[in-house]
Amino acid sequence: MPGSVSTEVTNEGSSSRPISIYDVALQQYDDVVNRLQLPADIAAILRAPKRELVVHFPVRMDDGTHRMFTGYRVHHSLVRGPAKGGIRYAPDVDLDEIRALAMWMTWKCAVVGIPFGGAKGGVSCDPRELSLSELEQLTRRYTAEIAFFIGPDRDIPAPDMNTNPQVMAWVMDTYSMLAGHSVPAAVTGKPLSIGGSEGRVEATGRGVMYMTELTLQSLGISLDMATVAIQGSGNVGGTAAKLLHAAGCKVVGMADSDGGIYQAAGLDVPAVLAAVAEHRTVIGYQGAERISNDAVLTLPVDVVIPAATQNQITGMNAGRIQAKVVVEGANGPTTPQADVILRERGIIVVPDILANAGGVTVSYFEWVQDLQSFFWSEAEINQRLHTVLTKAYAEVAAVATREQVDLRMAAYMLAVRRVAEGYLVRGIYP
Ligand code: NAD
Repeated sequence: MPGSVSTEVTNEGSSSRPISIYDVALQQYDDVVNRLQLPADIAAILRAPKRELVVHFPVRMDDGTHRMFTGYRVHHSLVRGPAKGGIRYAPDVDLDEIRALAMWMTWKCAVVGIPFGGAKGGVSCDPRELSLSELEQLTRRYTAEIAFFIGPDRDIPAPDMNTNPQVMAWVMDTYSMLAGHSVPAAVTGKPLSIGGSEGRVEATGRGVMYMTELTLQSLGISLDMATVAIQGSGNVGGTAAKLLHAAGCKVVGMADSDGGIYQAAGLDVPAVLAAVAEHRTVIGYQGAERISNDAVLTLPVDVVIPAATQNQITGMNAGRIQAKVVVEGANGPTTPQADVILRERGIIVVPDILANAGGVTVSYFEWVQDLQSFFWSEAEINQRLHTVLTKAYAEVAAVATREQVDLRMAAYMLAVRRVAEGYLVRGIYP
């Protein structure tokens, strides 16, 4: 299943162009702007990315040849602080995808009230085809190409799909070599030994767990009564599975790019994750029924967590979702058409900009700790994360109730209003 396009059409005219996630991001933004009645000039400014960088660069491969790669870094907004956003490595990464993800980062940071703007980066490559040394070469050269664009007070990258603490260590080292001194605050999601934060690896999945708990609470269901299905067995999906299982949830289904597994009685999640560590996929786990990747989203569960990639819940399968709640661990997993279907069917969607904001929140803590060279314990991190996310959830839920809108519209209203207020008070330069 392709990651970035679905066969749905945009509401912007063409009836044949497939919808990209940038179309989705703009459509969501336009909907909220209509509702908020923002001044037209501010609305137009926030609709456009502030800066976009495209770099084409050579990487020396293991066989001694050089191959060209294309990378991106987009700053959507710097109104509320330095830009913040991950770096993803995937074959279908393109500028539109990075623009959408950068815009979502702006709203995500605003909705949880942290002082960052939005950015995103990526390199179009298939990391599965690269050796470790090629991955390092690619990361270092990409970092060198974007080095003038990033930095602790400009734009702070972090991990995303197919990047991890080791990749962040190479980014930090390359940036530091160019600066002539160590700059730990230039990147977050680093290993602990070079200024990483306790709790960062698990932060996004932990946030997904808190959001699942809060939403189920509003329905009178406790975590230990709930059944869950999760798409994605990586950082977000795997951690969410681990923490929800530990909290007593029955995780009955999991899937990733290679397929899915199902066990009505509840999966042995630690054993599944051990199989993922060994075989890089959940289907390496032998003790469960094999199902398709798509089927995991439509299992009879209380909560479904799309935590893999974009455009997974679409007009094609939204009518078959059986869960009461969808918690968007991934960015952009639900298309606008699917959103309408889910809303009409009374299914609660906890939107990505709220549901997966745990990662950027602990990235913010990491940046603060690096700037101060003063580090907090994991218990402090998790407690602060809980405080930030519980407050954000309550604020979004209050807007939803007051304005009679769904959680996505409420989160957007809160976030876009916060960024627009920043813009209004700063004024339009010059
Ligand atoms: P990851 O690379 O660690 O894992 C991605 C997982 O998704 C893998 O299990 C992969 O097999 C699976 N996958 C990819 N394409 C798929 C497809 N078409 N169908 C089914 N499974 C597929 O990535 P991650 O960091 O866990 O990120 C997952 C999502 O969460 C992305 O949308 C990312 O932008 C978002 N996100 C990540 C973070 C973070 O801190 N890592 C923070 C916020 C949001």
